[in-house]
Amino acid sequence: MNKVGGADLIKRYQTLADIQTAISEKKESCHTLVSYYLQRIHQHEELNAFLESFDEEALRKADQIDQKIQQKKAGKLAGLVLGIKDILCYRGHSLTASSHILETFTSLITATVISKLEAEDAIIIGRQNCDEFAMGSSNENSAFGAVKNPVDTTKVTGGSSGGSAAAVAADLCHASLGSDTGGSVRQPAGFCGVYGIKPTYGRVSRYGLIAYASSFDQIGPLTHSLEDSARIMEVMAGHDPQDNISSSQPTDTYSSFQEIGHTSYCFGLIKEIMESPGLDEEIRQLIMRKVDSLQQAGHTIKWVDFPLMEYVVPCYYILTTAEASSNLSRYDGIRYGHRADKPADLLDLYKQSRTEGFGDEVKRRIMLGTFVLSAGYYDAYYTKAMKVRRLIKDQTLAILGEVDGLLTPTAPTTAFSLGEKTTDPIEMYLTDIFTVHANLAGLPAISIPAATHSNGLPMGLQIMGSAFEEKALYHMAHLLDTA
Ligand code: GLN
Repeated sequence: MNKVGGADLIKRYQTLADIQTAISEKKESCHTLVSYYLQRIHQHEELNAFLESFDEEALRKADQIDQKIQQKKAGKLAGLVLGIKDILCYRGHSLTASSHILETFTSLITATVISKLEAEDAIIIGRQNCDEFAMGSSNENSAFGAVKNPVDTTKVTGGSSGGSAAAVAADLCHASLGSDTGGSVRQPAGFCGVYGIKPTYGRVSRYGLIAYASSFDQIGPLTHSLEDSARIMEVMAGHDPQDNISSSQPTDTYSSFQEIGHTSYCFGLIKEIMESPGLDEEIRQLIMRKVDSLQQAGHTIKWVDFPLMEYVVPCYYILTTAEASSNLSRYDGIRYGHRADKPADLLDLYKQSRTEGFGDEVKRRIMLGTFVLSAGYYDAYYTKAMKVRRLIKDQTLAILGEVDGLLTPTAPTTAFSLGEKTTDPIEMYLTDIFTVHANLAGLPAISIPAATHSNGLPMGLQIMGSAFEEKALYHMAHLLDTA
């Protein structure tokens, strides 16, 4: 149980391996497991983590998988009960992106990641609340209400995959799938006390993921353990002909990260981050304690300069809003989504449908993105930001030539109060300062729940690694976890 004001944080199983052992010892079945999670979802509706649970369907699948287990034909992930952020297409199911504009939309396809996980017998239990079109850092931008942090229900979950993080933290499902454009898996994972990874750009197929900023978006799991994160990634990762930027580089056996023999790693600490005045003092001290333990275990630490740090947030918000303004143009009342009732003419139909359908933050970003792409401003903003992105990437790769991983906080503070930052978009954007870096550079990064703050809330730490080195990233995260 956790502190007063939070949901009960009982956890039935720490890892999928524990679930599979219990199933093999006949102490559990997929059916009893799904019933357990469904019951918890309904008991904890106040968290607002799920927009819909697939009760009958999930139970039916559980029965089928229980049969397969008996016949010894079950897949690698049998026993895994998974929630999906409501931004991933799942054929025949509603898909809203937490927006009124898609309130009546049904998916025509299934995201590749979901097909792959289902092929290994994972069970999808429901759709999870998120910030509208994945735009947000607190899950307060959902058209269907904010999600509450199960650790302390007066606090935000972080965003945009807030429902996905809260659901794992409160054990409403064993794991979740989120999407991460600038930290949306890692920051809520950090705020809710679970593990979250953003893979290398191109490692995981984006087919069936509603696009926010296509050159940043990746899908990643949120879990109770590194082990499960790696097992899910192992199934999800890989080339997909349906997503032409997905990499054809071979995937790795991520789940055997603990078998990487004794390696001494060099962890980099970014001066500009560690000295940043906005960084919570206890989080800073936590990193320094971890650094001591890592050094005692034979790893080395290197302080590095990253003078471009102050540009990561502006650069991210110029480029992602530009991409979003283009990606979201398809929601026009004709092709997809909500259509206004009595428009005067075609232009009015577009205007009214979009005005009624989108929330404030999405509108703000579409307007900002349209502005930075407009004639006369394109070079000053968009082209400039593209150049800055290149510099950020080059400088980061140069640093990663000297260190194996960059150790940073996931966010400058622990979860803030609901309503605290909703009136100040800039302050809200600054909570992403440590996470957007990995998306700008296309690199993998993972957040682990490292300790509890004196305010009772989880503190997340992040490691960013080299492209396509997810296995080493898991290993480094494991060492940090146990340091
Ligand atoms: N908070 C960031 C944003 O609002 C990240 C969102 C995301 O990763 N989808 O853009």
